[in-house]
Amino acid sequence: MLNPLSFISKIFKSNNDIELSKFKKIIEKINSLENDVAKIKDSDFPNKTDELKNKIQSGKTLDEILPEAFAYVREASHRSRNERHFDVQLLGGIALHQGKIAEMKTGEGKTITIALAAYLNALSGKGVHVVTVNDYLAKRDCENMSKIYNFLGLSAGYINNDQSDDERRENYLKNITYATNSELGFDYLKDNMKYSSNKLVQRDHSFAIVDEIDSCLIDEARTPLVISGQSDETSNQYKAINKLVTKLKPSDYELDEKDKNVTLTNEGINTIEKLLSNIGILKNNNFYDPANLNLVHHVNQALKANHLFSKDKDYVEVDGKIKIVDELTGRILEGRRYGDGLHQALEAKENLKVQMENQTLASITYQNYFKLYKKLAGCTGTAVTESQEFYEIYNLNVVVIPTNKEMIRKDWNDQIFRTEKEKQDAIISKVKMLNSKGQPLLIFTSSVDKSEIYSGLFKKNKIPHTVLNAKNHEKEAEIIANAGKLNSVIITTSISGRGVDIKLGGKDSDNLKDNKERIKKLGGLFVIGTERMESRRVDNQARGRAGRQGDEGNSIFYVSLEDDLMRIFGSESINKILEKLGLKDGESIDHPWINKALERAQQKVEARNFDIRKTLLKFDDVLNDQRHVIFNQRREVLEKQNVFETIDNFLKDEIEDLIKQREKSPSFFENKAHTNRVNTLFGEKDNLDERFKSLSDKEITNSINSNFKKRERKEVLI
Ligand code: ADP
Ligand code: MG
Repeated sequence: MLNPLSFISKIFKSNNDIELSKFKKIIEKINSLENDVAKIKDSDFPNKTDELKNKIQSGKTLDEILPEAFAYVREASHRSRNERHFDVQLLGGIALHQGKIAEMKTGEGKTITIALAAYLNALSGKGVHVVTVNDYLAKRDCENMSKIYNFLGLSAGYINNDQSDDERRENYLKNITYATNSELGFDYLKDNMKYSSNKLVQRDHSFAIVDEIDSCLIDEARTPLVISGQSDETSNQYKAINKLVTKLKPSDYELDEKDKNVTLTNEGINTIEKLLSNIGILKNNNFYDPANLNLVHHVNQALKANHLFSKDKDYVEVDGKIKIVDELTGRILEGRRYGDGLHQALEAKENLKVQMENQTLASITYQNYFKLYKKLAGCTGTAVTESQEFYEIYNLNVVVIPTNKEMIRKDWNDQIFRTEKEKQDAIISKVKMLNSKGQPLLIFTSSVDKSEIYSGLFKKNKIPHTVLNAKNHEKEAEIIANAGKLNSVIITTSISGRGVDIKLGGKDSDNLKDNKERIKKLGGLFVIGTERMESRRVDNQARGRAGRQGDEGNSIFYVSLEDDLMRIFGSESINKILEKLGLKDGESIDHPWINKALERAQQKVEARNFDIRKTLLKFDDVLNDQRHVIFNQRREVLEKQNVFETIDNFLKDEIEDLIKQREKSPSFFENKAHTNRVNTLFGEKDNLDERFKSLSDKEITNSINSNFKKRERKEVLI
């Protein structure tokens, strides 16, 4: 048998190897238990689980019982699902248990790896959350892994968007709960808006294992979770301002695509002043006069809406509503709205009904939500390129787990062209050529918009294909599962079908074995990138769809100087290289230098996006302190039998502080804030000044207390 651990005996070169070598002893221990565990009767496994729980009760640590627990899970998986954990999967399980990120390539079996750490940690009685990229996967993984958990006497549940609070509560009470990051985050926020403790759905935040952790904590971390309600204020100026802004000439504003910024030039300020005073809404003849603050804000948002946000790229229009599209993943962010009036500005731009202005009732970033957990871990095929961010923001280390079988995929050099058109032509002829042999193709585009452009081109060239853009996860999973079939051509965005296994020959074809052999001979699944994406990680995700579990596979990226990445970030250095290499019109070129230069351009984008996320986090950190205090106080009140006790404490603090302030400052009443406070506490308005001065400390205390008792009774009566 192949020994996947043989790498450990080699000379250690990196920290990663040192880390893995520490795991080796544990693996040996787990393996040594296998023969005995194999003798246990099926029906006895729940008792073994109870024994482990008792061991924890009597003071054993999770680390101490890990080998035994993992040995049970492996056996349970083998018997209930006919999948015996590979040693490398045990390595991954240890990394997860230790609160690290296990980088395991696509197809290496992260789902059953997670089950190892989930089972072990659930033994402590606290709920384990397994975080998936979409609802479909939460359900699928929960149902598949339940066979293992139930075999061992534990329970698992999943959260889906359409569930009621009662269903949610029930599923959160299970030993292990599968859910997406947004369901978890929203349930947390909603729980903190509830009025009684029996309405809460979540219990503690003990341990979260995040599958596809980069998608969850990096790609999605640019937009915070927001619960909003309609505010009383609304503005009818969006449409009027939008009309004016569309009249501006290019010289009226300056566009900075790199920093996503657009500002008025001096000329533009003059123009807008004229336009605004024409319709009679400019005050004091000066755009920047404080009285026009609202106008300035509206104009700025309208400028952004018109010049930085494109339909079908940044947002789509569905049923008369603007929906945000995650630029990187092409996924629609359901229910989310841009803040600060930008969403309204977009509605005005598209001439839709401008929705009421929203007021944020509760919000949290994913960064701060996931920091609530006492322990956090995760896995993905692509973590190393972002290891700095994982460490800085989440204090997570990455451990690279070797593949079970050697990876033999061929990653070809990028093909670079001068123009988009030449690039597209080349892609079409490559696709035609490969498709005529029957080789399955997966074509990656950077946005929903682009996926449709390529679909149009394929149609024109009579290439039968399917387009996926993360609109229906379940249906797309079914399609992606068959992406390895003969003649398959699928155009997709990067997030579509993530987490779905692609088997060569397809999932359910009649003569699977023959087809598989034929496709292996053709070179396996061929991944074609239609441009370099915003990060190396996203490219690697795309490549990773091919060559799973030692399969044959190919990947190649096509690039043109007109691609966004090149235009905005990379063209200068690349132009120099191209001159050196001598790229002529109508020709393409590939050279390792170009791959390097492209990666440098991507690193610039990655760094910029990291900065955006850091800034978001910096603002949210301030809120986070307040959120902690308020949510904790709320929780206390909710969970207390006697709420008045808490109120009395508040009041006592307040009175003590008042008395202290009075002693400290003789000019107490000159401060309006203090007068208001005293008035509120006494519930009176007149002559407090004099009376307050002459009262003794004791009299103040009694007077306020009796005043509050009176009011309490009154309010209860109401
Ligand atoms: P990943 O999430 O790492 O991409 P999955 O968990 O989806 O991988 O697993 C990929 C495929 O490999 C699935 O079909 C799964 O059933 C199979 N698989 C994983 N581990 C094993 C194993 N130890 N033995 C047999 N099949 C396995
Ligand atoms: Mg997976």
